Amino acid sequence: MLTTTLFEPLAAQMGGRVVTPSDPDWDATRQVFNLAMDLRPAAVALPHDVRDVVAAVDHARVNGLRVAPQATGHNADAHGALDETLLVDVRELQEVSIDAGARRVRVGAGVKWGRVAPQLSEHGLAALHGSSPDVGVAGYSLGGGMGWLGRKHGLQANSVTAIELVTADGRATRVDAEHEPDLFWALRGGNGNFGVVTAIEFAVYPVEELYAGVMFFPFERASEVLQAWTALVTTLPDEMMSWASLLQFPDAPFVPEPVRGGSFAVVYGAFLGGEAEGRSLLRPVRELSPAMDTFAMVAPAALGEMAMDPPDPLPFVTTTALLGELPPTGVDDLVAAVGPESGSNLAMVELRQLGGAFGRRAPGAGARATLPGTLSLISLGVPEDSESEATARGYLESLDRAVDRYRVGDYANFVMEPTDASRFFDAETWARLRRVKALYDPSDLFKGNHHIPPAD
Ligand SMILES: Cc1cc2nc3c(=O)[nH]c(=O)nc-3n(C[C@H](O)[C@H](O)[C@H](O)COP(=O)(O)OP(=O)(O)OC[C@H]3O[C@@H](n4cnc5c(N)ncnc54)[C@H](O)[C@@H]3O)c2cc1C
Repeated sequence: MLTTTLFEPLAAQMGGRVVTPSDPDWDATRQVFNLAMDLRPAAVALPHDVRDVVAAVDHARVNGLRVAPQATGHNADAHGALDETLLVDVRELQEVSIDAGARRVRVGAGVKWGRVAPQLSEHGLAALHGSSPDVGVAGYSLGGGMGWLGRKHGLQANSVTAIELVTADGRATRVDAEHEPDLFWALRGGNGNFGVVTAIEFAVYPVEELYAGVMFFPFERASEVLQAWTALVTTLPDEMMSWASLLQFPDAPFVPEPVRGGSFAVVYGAFLGGEAEGRSLLRPVRELSPAMDTFAMVAPAALGEMAMDPPDPLPFVTTTALLGELPPTGVDDLVAAVGPESGSNLAMVELRQLGGAFGRRAPGAGARATLPGTLSLISLGVPEDSESEATARGYLESLDRAVDRYRVGDYANFVMEPTDASRFFDAETWARLRRVKALYDPSDLFKGNHHIPPAD
């Protein structure tokens, strides 16, 4: 058991705070996005600037502690136990600078997508963010980043142009394709295993408008909607990214009025093109006559809220998989497991179309260069008590069984429990990640959410 006096010298050195179990705001500070998660590090350092991060890293190293970097706590569940670990939470690093002419953005590592995407939209630009404005740029980018424009432009990790971080020896550095290229490569996929990132610079793309929206169908029509959608996505160009979900919305204020408390089969799309072509591409699904259809030409800012993700922390349980295919019999099995007649209490069962640039290795790509498969599956239960949690876990297991034969891998950012991280990489990439780890962090100071140990 570590005493809080251990952190007094660090607190005296830092401009920001060090919060320990004896502080009144300990529980609030260590709370993460999943309210079912009880994160118990030795202490939480809240650096104000790079100098504070250096002090925190040095203090942990000298005192035999490990360091877990964190930005927003959206994937904190994967950490497992954080005994003898200083959580370095960069939430206060909030700088945002946009160079619209150069199509470059630099953000402090605590910045969430919701602070960046709307500003970019005003400049006719879009970043490769995902479904939630509440997710942090840092963890999202360091783990991959599967966003709305990814079939055209790939994973966000590979649009990152430079990373500023503090390494295990307490050195503040900026790495890019020319400077410490091995470390730059490893960071883009290797999450928090190589240092505490203080800022990220990335490329953004010109998008004045796009054809995007959601079609809502009654939940009872899940089977025909998913059958039509899985057939459709094999025909779509890289400019279109489409998702399909089974949604059982809570009766909660964050859910838009018309769908609050309702259950639906929905089809989303984001098309980098005009309305006529977008409509024509989606015709096979629209011919099923959605009950509500929000598709329109919109500014890229509209993508921020389109998935209707929960904006505030909540308790949840999940499962996920990357699928090589999902033939009609696979759709039948999925719908039988978690569809309208299953009694499922899962809030979301979401399929995202992959392929396109997700499957192509770009020159100079990082460790998470591509994602295998044609579809990504993620499902979420939001239990109210232990009984509904057990029920949700049962349905998640049924879903796993229904799609198991189509599974070709897993996407690290969607895996929210402790696991062997080698499963996310091919053998060559994993061996290289471990070699870079041995070079930059031989004593394994940094504990990323998905741990990469140094090579022996
Ligand atoms: C509601 C919701 C919606 C999501 N939607 C998408 C989506 O559309 N597409 C997608 O790809 N993913 C999505 N995700 C997954 C998300 O990308 C991961 O959970 C990601 O890890 C979150 O990053 P974060 O910085 O917000 O969270 P954190 O939990 O703070 O960070 C996750 C991990 O990243 C590393 N990390 C974070 N900050 C730093 C730092 N400063 N220095 C070094 N390492 C750091 C650490 O290893 C940390 O444990 C979603 C998650 C949620 C909960």
